[in-house]
Amino acid sequence: MKYTVGVDLGGTKVLAAIVNEHQEVVTTTKLKTAFDEGPQAVARQMAHGVRKAVADATLDFSDIVAIGAAAPGPTDRATGIVANAPNLGWHDPVPLGAMLTELLDGLPVIIENDVNAGTYGEWALGAGRGAQDVVGIFIGTGIGGGLILDGKLRSGARSAAGEIGHIIMLPDGPVCGCGNRGCVEALSSRKAIEREIAHAIQSGRPSKVTDLMGKKNKTRLTSGILADAWASGDPVVTEVLQRAARYWGLLTANIVNLIDPQRIIFGGGVMEKLGDTLLSQVRPVAYQHFIKKSDADQVAIVPAALGDNAGVLGAALLAHLAPPN
Ligand SMILES: [Zn+2]
Repeated sequence: MKYTVGVDLGGTKVLAAIVNEHQEVVTTTKLKTAFDEGPQAVARQMAHGVRKAVADATLDFSDIVAIGAAAPGPTDRATGIVANAPNLGWHDPVPLGAMLTELLDGLPVIIENDVNAGTYGEWALGAGRGAQDVVGIFIGTGIGGGLILDGKLRSGARSAAGEIGHIIMLPDGPVCGCGNRGCVEALSSRKAIEREIAHAIQSGRPSKVTDLMGKKNKTRLTSGILADAWASGDPVVTEVLQRAARYWGLLTANIVNLIDPQRIIFGGGVMEKLGDTLLSQVRPVAYQHFIKKSDADQVAIVPAALGDNAGVLGAALLAHLAPPN
């Protein structure tokens, strides 16, 4: 049996998974890491995560045929270069693939964008199984997207496809991290939701959020607190999440009107906690704005199924299918 390793570089942790030839996860390993020491240190941490996962699975390094690595930024699979990764403070291109190959005894390494890898993982093993055309939408600090068309992960001519978080909804809306105004990310990312709730509370509107944070001893608004506040009918949280769900519904309609996929998969921490609740608000808005309204419900709008493991699995499978030379 030969194995591949998927390794997902996130803002606060490195997650690594060993995947066998039958696309089964043998083991996953999580390392909490500090990312303020630059790309070389991060590459060493990732390599350490890979070696730890191999050891945890009681495998030998010679059992591994390839590594798939997911990174939070635009990536070029052909060169293994991450163009930038603002969440990690990387503003210049980083040859992460070559760095990892050197640190991992010359093993081939493929590099993929983390949301693309997550979408691929969900398509192959999770909520997208069996469909040919799937779009992944991941709601996090930002909003990321991935496209599977005709059963293939599509990155576009310049490896820049799938940036659906920057579809512009309100040209004069709030400034987005990308510099444009009114992107759906600036209106309804996790960060935007937190900002709007904080703003409403600061302006004196009654909300249970502050109490809930105190009770749970949290300094930030976690997905769990959002879920509890929603369940208790908190007016501020209800209003802000309903508005966000409306934007996600419009985003879905825009995507469906362009490429008409069979399935739209929503992932990210908020969806893990509130998937069904929020998607029941997203669906009617989306369906109402489809240009082809007949058979609208043939477009399934579903929550992701693999949680944190989607990225590592997708990266490992991409490495398995297409080990580079
Ligand atoms: Zn933007």
